Amino acid sequence: FDCPLRYCEVAVDVARAETARLFTYVIPAGMDVSEGSRVLAPFGGRKIEGYVLRLTDACALPPEKIKPVLCVLDKKPALLPELIRLADWMTGQYACLPVDALRLLIPAQMRGGRVKEKTEAVAALVDSLSSDPAALADAIAMCRRGRASAQADALELLAKAPNRELPRSALPPAAITALVRKGLVAVERREVMRVPRAYDSDIVKAAPDPPLTNDQSRVLGTLLGAMGDREGAFLLWGVTGSGKTEVYIRLAKAALEADRGVVVLVPEISLTPQMTSWFRARFGDGAAVLHSRLSPGERYDEWRRIRAGDARIVIGARSAVFAPVERLGVIVVDEEHEHTYLSERHPCYDAREVARKRCEDAGAVLLLSSATPALPDFARALRGDIRLLEMPRRVLNRPMPEAELVDMRREITRGNFSVISSRLAAELSDCIRAGRQAILLMNRRGYSTFVSCRACGYVERCGQCDVSMTYHIADGALRCHYCGSSRTPPEICPACGSSYIRFFGAGTQKVEQAVRELFPGTAVLRMDSDTTQGKNGYIDILKKFRDGEASVLIGTQMIAKGLDFPRVTLVGVIAADAMLHLPDYRSPERTFQLITQAAGRAGRAEHPGRVIVQCYDPDHYSIKAACAQDYRAFYEQEIVYRRHHLYPPYTRMTRVLYEGADVDMVRAACEAGLADMDDFFTLNPELRRQVVHMNAREAPIKFIKGQHRWQLFLKLYAKGTSAQVLERMSGLAAVHREDVRCSLQVDPPSLL
Ligand code: ADP
Ligand code: ZN
Ligand code: ZN
Repeated sequence: FDCPLRYCEVAVDVARAETARLFTYVIPAGMDVSEGSRVLAPFGGRKIEGYVLRLTDACALPPEKIKPVLCVLDKKPALLPELIRLADWMTGQYACLPVDALRLLIPAQMRGGRVKEKTEAVAALVDSLSSDPAALADAIAMCRRGRASAQADALELLAKAPNRELPRSALPPAAITALVRKGLVAVERREVMRVPRAYDSDIVKAAPDPPLTNDQSRVLGTLLGAMGDREGAFLLWGVTGSGKTEVYIRLAKAALEADRGVVVLVPEISLTPQMTSWFRARFGDGAAVLHSRLSPGERYDEWRRIRAGDARIVIGARSAVFAPVERLGVIVVDEEHEHTYLSERHPCYDAREVARKRCEDAGAVLLLSSATPALPDFARALRGDIRLLEMPRRVLNRPMPEAELVDMRREITRGNFSVISSRLAAELSDCIRAGRQAILLMNRRGYSTFVSCRACGYVERCGQCDVSMTYHIADGALRCHYCGSSRTPPEICPACGSSYIRFFGAGTQKVEQAVRELFPGTAVLRMDSDTTQGKNGYIDILKKFRDGEASVLIGTQMIAKGLDFPRVTLVGVIAADAMLHLPDYRSPERTFQLITQAAGRAGRAEHPGRVIVQCYDPDHYSIKAACAQDYRAFYEQEIVYRRHHLYPPYTRMTRVLYEGADVDMVRAACEAGLADMDDFFTLNPELRRQVVHMNAREAPIKFIKGQHRWQLFLKLYAKGTSAQVLERMSGLAAVHREDVRCSLQVDPPSLL
């Protein structure tokens, strides 16, 4: 009697072009393999992990040629069917191998079994005692008579504990051993969940839902209607302090009531503690957090709580868009304009785009949200491609903070060479004296931005990367912000021998030093990627500031957005135009966003806020519009500039980036790519009209970490059929070579 054989098609976890196809294996009788299971299977003489994407009853190959699956790795299939579909879509969209996309769906440490379930020994009263108070009393009395008081105490503690059990480690070992021998207590190992450290610093106490403002209830009404109809993408444009988070919370509540799950994306890990504590104040353990700074164990356990359906709300950074939430109802993308939603690593996905695809598939609501929407998104909203929702006022009629511009050129003529203007110093002094708090934004870390010779203009550069090095005062070293290498600054110029080596430009460390000199004894915190290295560094700094342990918080863009500190009444933007002249068409937009968001941190509770914006170019439209907190004014000017220069949203800036150690090979691969595109356009002349520019040349940063970089750059008209051109480019990027890595980037966060 032959049982029909069952087969599965497996994506093996080996990132090579030959493994882009699926491999068929037999499922041994009795093994519980499903779609989405992770399995161990023989492959090329090794045992490798793989993902089961399909089950079949038939197979064209003779059965004896097909190897069996060795074992299933997880109790519950790791991948949801909808996420398998999503990965399949990503493979085409971002020119990656199926495994590149599938790997994003589970915590990295699950692969290779590098993270295990944590177990704990639990001691419990045996059933005959826990169900019979008289027997329990007898047992305790017997122990006391036998002078085994430790055992009697342990029984009493267990009798009072929930479920009549305690971790074994909470009780004296000798007593437990004796009680087990007497048959009164049973010990077993049980799985326990690791709890993210962020949860101990819960900053928000459980509170009843506040009554909604008119704006909030109008917006929520529309969103709830859309959730009922199982469709819709929205752009919520709400000024800073308009109470957008409360909208997310109510939307999440409605989703849970409709038995649907929720994903809330935040642009930075540093914003997760605040968002999780707001959600956990309302939903308790129903909300989980997922990001790469959790310990492997915490991340694995949070992921499993989500996968098991115990937590149906997920808050996290970019990669949380892949959280295994079933019956998805909503994805919120908070601060949707942030470029951190774009992955800079292969596959270069855009979390907003992935969210949109996932929502369409699940019939879920997509809510993009920002006080300063990305220009292309606002343009789409004005065209009606995505529905615009507005919250133009702060909650409880709180005023927008007042912003004042300080022209730093005048400070210099008046003899003040400090990074802090006299206006800002005066405001800081008032703020500190009144016992309130201030935030100072300086969007560069380190002390000085570059080291140069006054005599000949020589600049210290990193040998491995095509960039200048930054001086860090803490250890007196020059450091490369691309590869992390460091060295001591030269005392004499290596080029001309002069001793006129000087430090130029300013970073967060210089601001910190200036504040400490101006206000000795004032507690100052600094938050940048140097002070947040540890797993929980960001939590500690934010908690200290929230608890009032410091009056001044200095930081990079990571403190500019999203944070809600009620006692902050002053915000200083130190070098507002530092970014304005970077060679990137988005510089004015980024400058506007950064100032507006930073200003939005001031005056969020009862005391009104004040903002001092220091710059060298006070007449620039993006700085003026930001000081006026006028997104619309900025948009109207910026869109004209974009149209004139044919920048997005009128075009798409795309490139295939080639990287490798051998510059000739990198160059050859890139030029071959150009020739290929040229042939393609010769065959498809109508598509050539899509192209504004096409060229193959060295990337603006010529090498990073010793890897040379060339790019095949195409600027394409956004209207029309650029999809076919992108498909061809993604075909180029998908060619796998040993010595040259390539990746397709569409409107990437950086074109350097
Ligand atoms: P946004 O994200 O729009 O900048 P938040 O969601 O952080 O604003 O809200 C700003 C502040 O207003 C928070 O402290 C929040 O608790 C408070 N808040 C939000 N909604 C209400 C409401 N309906 N009534 C009173 N306070 C509210
Ligand atoms: Zn010199
Ligand atoms: Zn370097």
